[in-house]
Amino acid sequence: MPDLAFDNRFLAELPGDPDPSTHTRQVLGAAYSRVLPTPVAAPKLLAYSAEVAAAIGLSGAQVESEDFAQVFAGNAQWPGMDPWASNYGGHQFGHWAGQLGDGRAISLGEVIGADGQRHELQLKGAGRTPYSRHADGRAVLRSSLREFVCSEAMHALGVPTTRALSLVATGDEVVRDMFYNGNARAEPGAIVCRVAPSFIRFGHFELPASRKDLPLLEKLVDFTLARDYPQLTGSMEQRRAAWFIEVCERTARLIAQWMRVGFVHGVMNTDNLSILGLTIDYGPYGWLEPFDPQWTPNTTDFEGRRYAYGQQPQIGQWNLSALAGALVALFPDQAPLHEGLKRYASVFAAEHARLTAARFGWPTLGEVELELAQDFFRLLQRDEVDVTLAFRHLADLDLSAPAMGTLAPAFYAPERIAKGAVDWNAWLQAYAARSLADPRPASERRAAMDAINPLYVPRNYLAQLAIDAAEQGDVSVLQQWMATLRQPYCVQPGRERFAARRPEWARERAGCSMLSCSS
Ligand code: AMP
Ligand code: MG
Repeated sequence: MPDLAFDNRFLAELPGDPDPSTHTRQVLGAAYSRVLPTPVAAPKLLAYSAEVAAAIGLSGAQVESEDFAQVFAGNAQWPGMDPWASNYGGHQFGHWAGQLGDGRAISLGEVIGADGQRHELQLKGAGRTPYSRHADGRAVLRSSLREFVCSEAMHALGVPTTRALSLVATGDEVVRDMFYNGNARAEPGAIVCRVAPSFIRFGHFELPASRKDLPLLEKLVDFTLARDYPQLTGSMEQRRAAWFIEVCERTARLIAQWMRVGFVHGVMNTDNLSILGLTIDYGPYGWLEPFDPQWTPNTTDFEGRRYAYGQQPQIGQWNLSALAGALVALFPDQAPLHEGLKRYASVFAAEHARLTAARFGWPTLGEVELELAQDFFRLLQRDEVDVTLAFRHLADLDLSAPAMGTLAPAFYAPERIAKGAVDWNAWLQAYAARSLADPRPASERRAAMDAINPLYVPRNYLAQLAIDAAEQGDVSVLQQWMATLRQPYCVQPGRERFAARRPEWARERAGCSMLSCSS
């Protein structure tokens, strides 16, 4: 049994629910409920992150032991673990939803890892909690695999995120109606152990605020400052002010990164936004393939497209406004709340401009560059072009003789290449002219572009291929794909299939371009 140092501050410093049962209820005046995971039939480790294990202080042999699979499927606990589900609310699709809470997430404890950092270990799909409402507390293999892969891939891409330690099959079946259309089926269950310094969400603050429970709200804020923002100094009032502004800045930087890599979260409800500015709660997320700001993978959101790719910056601000609204009672001077929201807009704009310039290989995004960038995105959208491959191939362009053939592999419909050639050639000429003004040698420019434009992203159809194989008991596709995603910016010979644009069969297939909240 590994010797891990647990320091469960969330439990020690915040008020808990005295009721030990798991029956569904409103939990008042408490930030969490202690609850044990519900055992499963036959735990089996499917995959793990060696990097996360090492940070925590677990060896490969320890993770591959039978004991690990039991603990990370919820069948047993190691000394120092003291499982709980936390209590939060949230705005779902723009509407206040009241208490939500960890309905299927159970935290095992906070470990001080081999790296000296705090790592909260949280099982997702470990059984019912007081916050499960009518649902079963479980997760299916397809959604757990998707969360496992994407959290590790995002980290490798340089995007702030919760991490994933392990993916364990439960041996139990879980019944899901994937598109809520009366076609329920039994699917294999699995549990991810996700890892972050804190799983506190905007919704943690919204819930006590909505109940006018100021003492709990204040405890949560001060706890977050003490545990998660120890670097902030000054009086309590100064620290709270600096904290809100910092949360706004982090959220701005986070969403600018999502826009860079083409990530669409899919369910940016306020319960799914992290107080640390991490990507959290991978559900019906997706990766932009043909460029389209209106695209969302989430079928539940097809009508309103509230959480489509191009909406994300604006929704970030909406969510921060909801957080500000929850905190207002603790801010006698509301100026920092307004300042934070303004800062969100300015930091997002600056960060987005910086990243956009870098994607094109430019030092800055001036007026000329901005217009060129907008034209490029317009052409990508008009001609159904893969955004990841387009940027990657743009780096290959011969600036002294720019040819459209360089971008051809990024087109989904080959006939558009000839049809759109006049506009594309004009754009490429202008782009080359602008880029030639760059004094850097071509090789340097190219390396800089390749370092910011990934080649391998967790494309939706690739996730589905890994899921199909894993459901048949074959995790080799998952393993190879995951290994590739760990170096998303480096060409990996022999791994071309993990960079390929979506094949035609995946255009309308469930799981490839259409996902729902059912997971
Ligand atoms: P999500 O859409 O994943 O952010 O979940 C919204 C809320 O529903 C959260 O409170 C979740 O804990 C809860 N929830 C989602 N799926 C389940 C499930 N299978 N069992 C219990 N609670 C769930
Ligand atoms: Mg959630």
